Amino acid sequence: MPLYEYDCQDCGERFETLVSARGKDDAKKCPGCGSEATTRALSTFAVGTASKRSDACATCCPGGTCGLQ
Ligand SMILES: [Zn+2]
Repeated sequence: MPLYEYDCQDCGERFETLVSARGKDDAKKCPGCGSEATTRALSTFAVGTASKRSDACATCCPGGTCGLQ
């Protein structure tokens, strides 16, 4: 089963939980405050890498081509 990260919209807690294919769209309760106002977070590793590369290219060249040269 995949392990997903969730962010609690009420207290800001980030937690990981195993999600079965059948239950992947179910609301997950925050272990900190019990709120069900949680959203699935994308992989921090993948998001962080893409975001950094995009920011760097936006400031030094149009279209983000500098990383390929
Ligand atoms: Zn919470």
